[in-house]
Amino acid sequence: AQAAVETVQQKLREAGVKYAMSSFVDLHGNIKTKFVPLSHLPQMAAGSELFTGAALDGLPQDISDEELSARPDLDSAVQLPWRKEVAYFASDLYTAGKPFEAASRNILKRQLEAAKELGFTFNLGIETEFFVLKDTPDGPAEVSDRDNLSKPCYTAPAALDNFDWLTEMVEAMNDMGWGVYSFDHEDAQGQFEIDFKYSDALTMADRAVFFRLMANEMVRKHGYFATFMPKPFADRSGSGAHFNMSLADAETGVNLFEADDDPRGCGISELGYKFIAGVLKHAPAICAVIAPTVNSYKRLVRKGSMSGSTWAPVFVSYGNNNRTNMIRVPLAGGRVECRAADISCNPYLGAAIILAAGLEGIRENLDPGAPHTENMYNYTEAEILKNGLGLLPRSLGEAVEEFAADSLSRDVFGEAMYNAYIDYKGQEWDEYQAHVSEWETKRYLKFF
Ligand code: GLU
Ligand code: MG
Ligand code: MG
Repeated sequence: AQAAVETVQQKLREAGVKYAMSSFVDLHGNIKTKFVPLSHLPQMAAGSELFTGAALDGLPQDISDEELSARPDLDSAVQLPWRKEVAYFASDLYTAGKPFEAASRNILKRQLEAAKELGFTFNLGIETEFFVLKDTPDGPAEVSDRDNLSKPCYTAPAALDNFDWLTEMVEAMNDMGWGVYSFDHEDAQGQFEIDFKYSDALTMADRAVFFRLMANEMVRKHGYFATFMPKPFADRSGSGAHFNMSLADAETGVNLFEADDDPRGCGISELGYKFIAGVLKHAPAICAVIAPTVNSYKRLVRKGSMSGSTWAPVFVSYGNNNRTNMIRVPLAGGRVECRAADISCNPYLGAAIILAAGLEGIRENLDPGAPHTENMYNYTEAEILKNGLGLLPRSLGEAVEEFAADSLSRDVFGEAMYNAYIDYKGQEWDEYQAHVSEWETKRYLKFF
């Protein structure tokens, strides 16, 4: 281990790195860190950096508890593309010499272990939708004056106006070996998406949290800010973080969701259908994790204040390329896409609970029923009932209740984090509920 650290240290030194980040994430998936001179890397690798969990959200600790020590995953090292003298490391947290049960990365690792025991590697690709805006005295504004189309999806001019920071990011991501395969202006004014190759879920979650930090830092240099708020504007589509998932044979790497012949018609194997069935079974609890904010539920609507469609799911359902489903099986087959996830989620926790649900579907041989191939956005209330469609939670409050009531949540998160999550998110909901909005006063103040 000592030799491995020294090899990494040497490589980083040669690349011009002077500082290493001892980093992990809080409940929100936001990166927390201490910076360590590179000469100190061997000590850092051995867990020298200590943190007080009680100072952060969702690292449930008492002030009297032992501190958390962060041990970096040496394989995760990357040079910050916008600050080459710093190297980032994702770390695992320990306390009193044992893995800290409530740490997001440990929670995912436990499920990856469970998958491995069944012979599976969990592969994940997360699509990153986000807005880039600029602050003005009048509030957040567009970064391109050609950003005012009624259907801005895939527009070339506004994307080209933003090409400097976009290509800086794309090149940085490719230098880190992420394999960007496309980027575009998305469906909402000021919204962008950069897509990169899937990988094992741990690597993908490490990258997704890093992505948010990187995007913010890199666009700041251009005087902008990036936002990962799921629905910043009522009349535009929101920012999803679609989870594209498959299970591979842990030995051979062969994709086990691929099928030559699929009588059910979606283009995946029976294993894939069982996985979907498990995810649908636990969909409400999963939503509390992959759509984790008050604002997330303003995205999960058919229309809201929008003239067009939101492309976001509303029903506990699956189907073919049909984007009104929570789970879509894209035409290419071999993977399933969970569309309920948004870009504010903690990807470690999200991946952990979805995987656990999918594995349950496999263990228990669950069946997801027939796929929905119709546009469910057009359903009337009566048709929804007739088709027996379940709705995704309509609010964070509802989702948290479902999370609390689902034993899978406790199993996946562990007792301490299960409680911490419910406390934190329950309070977030209560606080929102207690707030009287402008919409309400406008509507009711002089109404009666
Ligand atoms: N922005 C949409 C969402 O909130 C997704 C659009 C797409 O399919 O790329 O999920
Ligand atoms: Mg998209
Ligand atoms: Mg997608």
